[in-house]
Amino acid sequence: MRLTHFSDYGLRVLMYLASRPGEHVASADMARHFNVSWNHLLKVVRRLSELGFVEAKRGPHGGVKLMPTGLDVTVGEIVRNLEPQGELVECFNEETNSCPLVQGCRLAPLLDRANSAFLGVLDEVRVRDLVPTTELADSTPPTARR
Ligand code: SF4
Repeated sequence: MRLTHFSDYGLRVLMYLASRPGEHVASADMARHFNVSWNHLLKVVRRLSELGFVEAKRGPHGGVKLMPTGLDVTVGEIVRNLEPQGELVECFNEETNSCPLVQGCRLAPLLDRANSAFLGVLDEVRVRDLVPTTELADSTPPTARR
């Protein structure tokens, strides 16, 4: 099991912003800090903004800020929202499944339980519990622009 880069960076953005409460951080600064393309980071920020976890403003006084919901959301909820769902194995999608073993397969419910257990552990932790120590938040003051 592996998280997509999209979810991974979504979590990084939230943790990074959690270490800078109340600040509007330039997405370009975060992209540089994470060594990822700005374009990719903007897509992540846009999705986090749609979900109400961050506020993204353009302009000289703009930037990305963590919203209270982004501080209290669980890691499990973030992963559910950012990861493609239901596709651990192909039979989890009834519409596209072509596996001939689906009738009476004993592996499918096991994988389903394992997936639920994985998310269950992540549901126990909120972003506020992951507020990083200094090494994740760089020491360079961010500019307030996107
Ligand atoms: S073998 Fe079982 S778990 Fe795997 S895709 Fe087929 S039905 Fe699903």
